[in-house]
Amino acid sequence: MKCKRCLNEDPEWFYLGSKGWYCRKCISFGRILIEEDLEAEHALEIQDSAEEYTLKYPLTKQQVKIAAEVIKNIKTKDVLVKAVCGAGKTEIVVPVISEYLSKKKKVCFTIPRRQVVLEVAERLQSYFKNAKVVAVCGGHTQVLDGDLIICTAHQLYRYYQRFDLLILDESDAFPYHGNELLHSIALTSCRGNIVYLTATPDKELIKRREEGSLLCLELNVRPHGKPMPVPKSFVLPELICIFVMLYWLKCHDNHPRIVFVSTIKKALWIGKLICLFMPAYVCTSKTENRDEVIEKFRVEGNGIMISTTVLERGVTFPHTDVCVLDANSGVFDEASLIQMAGRAGRDFQDPTGNVLFLCNEMSEVVKKCISSIRKANESCIV
Ligand SMILES: [Zn+2]
Repeated sequence: MKCKRCLNEDPEWFYLGSKGWYCRKCISFGRILIEEDLEAEHALEIQDSAEEYTLKYPLTKQQVKIAAEVIKNIKTKDVLVKAVCGAGKTEIVVPVISEYLSKKKKVCFTIPRRQVVLEVAERLQSYFKNAKVVAVCGGHTQVLDGDLIICTAHQLYRYYQRFDLLILDESDAFPYHGNELLHSIALTSCRGNIVYLTATPDKELIKRREEGSLLCLELNVRPHGKPMPVPKSFVLPELICIFVMLYWLKCHDNHPRIVFVSTIKKALWIGKLICLFMPAYVCTSKTENRDEVIEKFRVEGNGIMISTTVLERGVTFPHTDVCVLDANSGVFDEASLIQMAGRAGRDFQDPTGNVLFLCNEMSEVVKKCISSIRKANESCIV
C-alpha cells in the first residue's frame, strides 16, 4: 500500500476505517482513502499573454546567464540556484515562469513563510501584469487557482499533480527543512521538475548535487554588482554588548535598523530597553499584528526593529543595517547568520550595508559565517 499524497508506504500509518483504508500520516491535511482516485483536478487554463512580463530593473548579465541555464536544464532535471542573499533569486526565475506560462503550463512558487507569500505574490503580479497571480496561505484560501500560484509549503496538499514547474524558495528553512511530510506533498503536487532557490543549501541538496541528480547554478554577486556586506564582529561582555548596540543604533539613525536576538523573551526586554531612548518595534513569532508592525517599520524608513529569526529570510527592507546581538548563541546556525546579514545592503541606490555581530565569546559558527561571506565575495570578483 502506498499513500498517493504523501508517498507513505509504512503499514504502521495505514488504518482501516468504515469506508476503507486510509493514511494517517498526512491526515492533518484531510482524510483520503487509499482506493480513492486522486485525479489531478481540472485546473483553470492559463490566460493568453499571461507570460508577458516587465521587471523593475533589467536582469544583470549574470542573472540572464543563470536564467537561461535554468530554462535549458529544467526540462530534464531539478535545478538548484544557489544565490547569495539579495542576488535577486525571484527575478532570476521570472524568465522560466514566463516560458512555462507561454506553453500554458502551471507554475507554483512556494515559500516557507506566510508574510513572504504575500510580498512575493505582489511583486510577481507587478511583473506579470496580464496574469492572475494568486497568493494561497493562512487567511488567503478563498481563491486557489490562477495563472501563477504563490503559496506556503503547507498549502501544496491542495494541488495533487497540478504543477509543471515547482519553485521551492528557501527549501532549507523551517518548516520545510527536515519535514518529510511537507517534502513528499511538494513532490506529489508537481508532475514536472523543481527549481530550488537558496543561499544556504542543506545537506540533502548538496548530496543530490554530488550524485548528479541536481544541477547547481551559483550566483555570488548581487544585481547592483556590490558584494555582500561582511559582518564586523566584536567580542565583549554581555552588558557592554548592549551599550555598543545602543551606540550603534544611534550612529545609524538615518537608516532602518534590525536588531536580531536569540529569544522572544530577550526581544521583548531589549525592545523595552531601547524604547527608553528611542522608538522601536518588536516582531517575533508571537507578535499578533505582525504584518502591520512590518508595514509600519517599512513605511517609516528609519525605524528600529527588534526581531527573532522570524525576519531572517525573505523580507526586504531597503537601506537596512543589521545588528545581531549574542551572535554566538546556539540558536543561530551558520545559515541563519548569513541570512540575517543578508538583510543589509540590498538596495540599488545604497548597495553597502552595515552588519554588526556582537558576541560574549567568539564561536565557530560566527567565524564560519564571516568566512563563507568573504569566500562568496571573492568568487564574484572576476
Ligand atoms: Zn498519506
